[in-house]
Amino acid sequence: MATIKYFERPKTLEEAVALLQDRRGEAAVLGGGTSLTLRVPPAVDTLVDLSALGLTGIEDRGDSTAILACTTVAELAASRVFQDRYGGILARAADQVASAPLRNMITVGGNAFAVFPWSDLPSVFLALDASVVVTGRQQRVIPIGEFYAQHPRISLRAGELVTEVRVPKPVGRADGSFVKVTKTRFDYAALSVAVVCHFAGSQVQHCTVALGSVRPLPIRVSQAEEEIVGKAPTKEDIIRAAARASGAIDPSQDFRYSQDYRRQLIKVWVKRCLHEVLG
Ligand SMILES: Cc1cc2nc3c(=O)[nH]c(=O)nc-3n(C[C@H](O)[C@H](O)[C@H](O)COP(=O)(O)OP(=O)(O)OC[C@H]3O[C@@H](n4cnc5c(N)ncnc54)[C@H](O)[C@@H]3O)c2cc1C
Repeated sequence: MATIKYFERPKTLEEAVALLQDRRGEAAVLGGGTSLTLRVPPAVDTLVDLSALGLTGIEDRGDSTAILACTTVAELAASRVFQDRYGGILARAADQVASAPLRNMITVGGNAFAVFPWSDLPSVFLALDASVVVTGRQQRVIPIGEFYAQHPRISLRAGELVTEVRVPKPVGRADGSFVKVTKTRFDYAALSVAVVCHFAGSQVQHCTVALGSVRPLPIRVSQAEEEIVGKAPTKEDIIRAAARASGAIDPSQDFRYSQDYRRQLIKVWVKRCLHEVLG
């Protein structure tokens, strides 16, 4: 069991990075604390609280919009920008994370980094082609596919932390759909599906279909996207896309949901999400 000896609350990002680099492995970043405080890694004796860094809010970055890492999930859910953009899928997903008290604590940086099978935002970030800004000695902008190619715990270098998630602004008409399939409002997801389509006239120019909660990490299903891109998709294209999504992965199974049940859920909900976006 870990014993916390030091609680640091740096006022600048440079100070936070220096603390993390000086105390490699012994210092952990504290976001909202909703998972870290349940199990602090045994080697950790220092918490570096990010709450005084001013890393809160949503900022314009020209061709993208940045969500700063300490923005809470509740603040993201209330964001006008994300309620409007891409069918409001990011705000909708944020609004379905855990319970209201937890949404006031969970940070976007913590949710993006500490990705669990039940995490709701990562699949939406994948569908939105977001990128993650990490800051250490230098700043790196990591495309979301690369960020989730393995657990971010492995991709981040010692002393690096997530400082923002950037969501590209839509060029032309774009729409999205998100669903979190659960037994109750507060339950962990059996599946989440996020779909985004960019249109040129009636044709779909670009389509992303991302799934959450069916593998340890969120995943994009290019097999489904291929059925939709470059055409004005028909009902048959949508049915084919959903079937291919369902056949593309081996879903995880646990005491609540079998693999077959999750495959069936994917088929049904990818179809419904594509219908919502494509009409
Ligand atoms: C009962 C319960 C139910 C939940 N249900 C859901 C749910 O349905 N959907 C959902 O999406 N989430 C849910 N969560 C939240 C999820 O499991 C995580 O607890 C949460 O996303 C972590 O965010 P945090 O800001 O609290 O991070 P913390 O707990 O502070 O940190 C978690 C980890 O991330 C690291 N970290 C935090 N911020 C950063 C950063 N900026 N850069 C680098 N590393 C960082 C920490 O060092 C730690 O390793 C639930 C949590 C609880 C307790």
